[in-house]
Amino acid sequence: MAQETQNHTLSVSGWAAYDSSGEIKPYTFKRRENGVNDVTIEVLYCGICHTDLHYAKNEWGITMYPVVPGHEITGVVIKVGCNAGKFKIGDRVGVGCLAASCLKCEFCADSQENYCDQMQFTYNGIFWDGSITYGGYSNVIVADYRYVVPIPENLPMDSVAPLLCAGITVFSPLKDNGMLGSPGKKMGVVGLGGLGHVAVKFGKAFGHHVTVLSTSPSKETEAKGRLGADDFIVSTNSQQMQAGKRSLDFILDTVSAQHSLGPILELLKVDGTLVTVGAPDQPLELPPFPLIFGKRSVKGSMTGGMRDTQEMMDLCGKHNITCDVEVIAPDTINEAMDRLAKNDVRYRFVIDIAGRISNI
Ligand code: NAP
Ligand code: ZN
Repeated sequence: MAQETQNHTLSVSGWAAYDSSGEIKPYTFKRRENGVNDVTIEVLYCGICHTDLHYAKNEWGITMYPVVPGHEITGVVIKVGCNAGKFKIGDRVGVGCLAASCLKCEFCADSQENYCDQMQFTYNGIFWDGSITYGGYSNVIVADYRYVVPIPENLPMDSVAPLLCAGITVFSPLKDNGMLGSPGKKMGVVGLGGLGHVAVKFGKAFGHHVTVLSTSPSKETEAKGRLGADDFIVSTNSQQMQAGKRSLDFILDTVSAQHSLGPILELLKVDGTLVTVGAPDQPLELPPFPLIFGKRSVKGSMTGGMRDTQEMMDLCGKHNITCDVEVIAPDTINEAMDRLAKNDVRYRFVIDIAGRISNI
C-alpha cells in the first residue's frame, strides 16, 4: 500500500500496474494538497516512454507497486501556490522526469537537478513527505513549480508531451558534447524509437549529417523522408556496418534492449564519443579493442536539468519541432504497451488522458 500523509486529500483517478505482469488497470489514489511551491495541473496528455514499460514489468527490479507511470506530461494549471507565481491558472505546462531535488548542492545550483543525489522522480520516487510519487497516467498531478515548464503557444499539447522525457534526454547529451551551435558534424543515432526519432530531428535542426543505425529496415523510408535523416544503416547488415567504419564524430545510443557496443563503436572516428541513454535491464557488451584502437569514449546521460528543458522547449517552439505520435485512449494503454514492447510504434504513443477531441 502506498504511503500517504494527512495532507494527501486530493482524490485522483489514474491507471497503474499492480504487479510484474505489467497490466495497467484503473487506480484511484490520493495526492498531496497544493502546497506553497506547487501547481496543480489537469493532465491532458501523457506519453508512453519505454521506461514506463521497464517499471510496469519491474524489469529493473526497483518497482514499488502499484506504480502509476508517466513522465511525459502536458496539461493546464488549475491551482497555484503562493510561491509559484511564475505560473497562473490556465497556463499550458509540461512535467517531465523530475519531482524534487535538494536545490542546494552544486548540481542543483547549476540546474543539473537530474544529477542531485537526492533527486526524486515523477513516479516510483519518495517525495520529501515520505509519500510515493505517482506519474502522469492520471487526471491531475501536483508538481513543485521548479520542475514545471511552460509550453510554447504554437506547439500542440499531444505531440509536445514526449519532449518532456524523450526530447530532453536526447537534447542534453547533444548539448553537453558540443553538438549544439557547431553544425556540420557526422552524428549517428542508434535505435529509431521514441528517443531516437527526436534525436534525428534535433540533429538535423542543429545542422548535422545524421545517420540512423536501426534493426528495422522498414523504417528507412520514413527516416530519410519525414524525419530527414541523411543515411540509414541496418545494424544487422555487416556489409553496411563495415562500409560505415570510422565515419561518425558522435553517436547517441537509445536502444532499450541488450546489445553489443563493439560494432557500433567501430563507426566512430578516432577520438569519437558514444553516449548511451538507453537503459536495458542487462549489461551492454563493451569489448575493449574498438575503444583502444580508436581512442574512443563511452559515456552515459540521464534526462536533463530544468534550464536545459526550458531551452529545448523554446528551441522546439522556434523550429516547430514536435514528436511523431499515435494518440490513444486510456482504455487501450495495455495494447499500446504490448505494441511498444514489440517495437511496433511510429514513434511514440501518447495517452489522451482528458479525452478531449480538440487540442488546446
Ligand atoms: P523505444 O521507443 O522502444 O525505442 C527503442 C528502439 O530501440 C526501438 O525503436 C528499436 O529501434 C531499438 N531496439 C529495440 N529492441 C532492440 C534490440 N533487441 N536490439 C537492437 N535495437 C533494438 O524506447 P524509448 O522510449 O525510445 O527508450 C529507449 C531506452 O531509453 C529505454 O531503455 C528507456 O528506458 C531509456 N530511457 C533512458 C532515459 C535516460 O534518462 N537515460 C530517458 C528515457 C528513456 P530500431 O527498430 O530502429 O532498431
Ligand atoms: Zn522517459
